Amino acid sequence: MKLNVINKKKYNPCIMTGYNCFGCCSVNLTNIKEVECGIDKNTKEYSEFKNNNKGFRDRYGKDELDKSGICLNLIRKNDINENGVCAIYPKDNTDDLRFGYCSTTFECVTFIKIQNWNEKKVSLFNFFIKELFEQNKLNKLSFSNEMYNNTIIDKFELWLKINNERDGI
Ligand code: SF4
Repeated sequence: MKLNVINKKKYNPCIMTGYNCFGCCSVNLTNIKEVECGIDKNTKEYSEFKNNNKGFRDRYGKDELDKSGICLNLIRKNDINENGVCAIYPKDNTDDLRFGYCSTTFECVTFIKIQNWNEKKVSLFNFFIKELFEQNKLNKLSFSNEMYNNTIIDKFELWLKINNERDGI
């Protein structure tokens, strides 16, 4: 199986803000400390598998999650503060190792709504998210939860209204 429909959409809010969302790659997240530890543990294990993504994916049972609630394939790839990315997310024209392991065609309400925005609105949304992170009003856990629950869109719409940023969107 190759890439799923999500890759063919106009915008990809899972990654486009620069803060990767894992709202649908987790169940009942515990707390930020445990999530960070879980991502660290996955990252360490990933390095032991070198480029053997299939071996990495299969190191635990199919339905297991980290005790923090995150997916066992969520790792940091570049710098230590990176939000976490899916280690087995397919590159172009490669097999999608996620099939049978996660809901590859799932799109949350936030994802669906953003597809109808124009570029200006998307760019303001990215700015809004960056500001919240820089002001410590969001962390990777609350960001992911708010994307998944769609509460972030309500906050953004309010912010647009307060800041008179509605022209041209
Ligand atoms: S919760 Fe939504 S935005 Fe976040 S990774 Fe899932 S589909 Fe993407």
